[in-house]
Amino acid sequence: MTAPLKLNIMTGEKGEPAGPDMAIISAPERWYAGLEGKRALLAKLAGADLRVISEHLAERAGERLHHAEWTFTDDPELVKSLGAVHDCARCRAGTDQALAFLREHPGREVVVGHLWRA
Ligand SMILES: [Zn+2]
Repeated sequence: MTAPLKLNIMTGEKGEPAGPDMAIISAPERWYAGLEGKRALLAKLAGADLRVISEHLAERAGERLHHAEWTFTDDPELVKSLGAVHDCARCRAGTDQALAFLREHPGREVVVGHLWRA
């Protein structure tokens, strides 16, 4: 198995971060292109979208984003271990939802985000 792809979203925030909070989304098909018969992630597009999503999630929680680490995977075990970083009802539900998505959509990926507050 190859190492999972991670995209880090940095901000200009200095100092020690707090957190992390956790979020999981399904990776939309528009983040991929067919390249010589293989699926390739359009990392620049995905990164730009994940920055907007990260900032939005922090803002909605009344926080400022320090940085975010997003991991692309279709591995249920990795989803479980990354999802367990914040053990609250919302995160458990999000993890279950992501596992159901992977079961129902073979070949698709989810992106697990660890969001650190400034
Ligand atoms: Zn949580």
